[in-house]
Amino acid sequence: MRYELHDGRILTWSLEAHVTTHCNLRCVQCCPLSPHLPTWAMEPAALGEDLRRLARVLQPGIFKLTGGEPFLHPDLPSVLDAVRASGISEQVSITTNGFLAQSAPDAVYERLDRMTLSVYTSAPLPERSIARITERCERHGVLLTVKRIDAFQKLTPDAPLATEAEVRTVHARCWMKARCHMVYRGHFYTCTRPPHVATVLGPQHPEMPALAEVDGLSLDGPELLARMLTYLEREEPLASCRYCLGGSGPWEPHAQLPRALV
Ligand code: SF4
Ligand code: SF4
Repeated sequence: MRYELHDGRILTWSLEAHVTTHCNLRCVQCCPLSPHLPTWAMEPAALGEDLRRLARVLQPGIFKLTGGEPFLHPDLPSVLDAVRASGISEQVSITTNGFLAQSAPDAVYERLDRMTLSVYTSAPLPERSIARITERCERHGVLLTVKRIDAFQKLTPDAPLATEAEVRTVHARCWMKARCHMVYRGHFYTCTRPPHVATVLGPQHPEMPALAEVDGLSLDGPELLARMLTYLEREEPLASCRYCLGGSGPWEPHAQLPRALV
């Protein structure tokens, strides 16, 4: 994959930050593995510092606040101010399951350009809540996209992929490596999986390398633009791909994890 530069910055599709890792739902095959992660909220100043460094070398078409459930963050206006101040992208979006969005303060809506509302058949958001969110987005000029989701694609294999050929095939077919770039705790990742797979699956797999380190690009150090281009244009799979199905997994009906199994 090749990337173009504009004014010394690499043009990318999007960049996201998981501003919380926990969630108020427990979706099976949650991409960031939220139901299995401890409660955690991003420090706005830390995110701002990471984004200031990234803004010198990256120009994503949109910046997305995701999670976990981002509306569980205790101070979203400060997070959004840090994002704006960094100049990382002109478009700032939030992705939510909606259960807390309807009652969020105006200060959040005032700072957003877009909202993506994921409505799951396994935990349906009431229509009156969708109507309330729609009304608030219209009032604040936020472009709302409602995605109704009745199926999920299996992302975590039952066991690590056995052969190098399987790992290479999964990586080659994976659309997320271009569409789901993430900044997380001082590192840039080409997809959202490495740090969370390490936390959740690491204890079961002693052979697993430190994925958060080996699969990420540190924002510290010189030559960030050159290092970023090399990282983005690599053809080698990540170490994380051995523990992931990318876009190759089977589709299954959407479901929630029973609390006792988590
Ligand atoms: S709502 Fe999103 S973050 Fe929360 S468990 Fe479901 S897929 Fe994961
Ligand atoms: S770990 Fe590999 S296969 Fe999984 S989403 Fe990332 S790039 Fe794709």
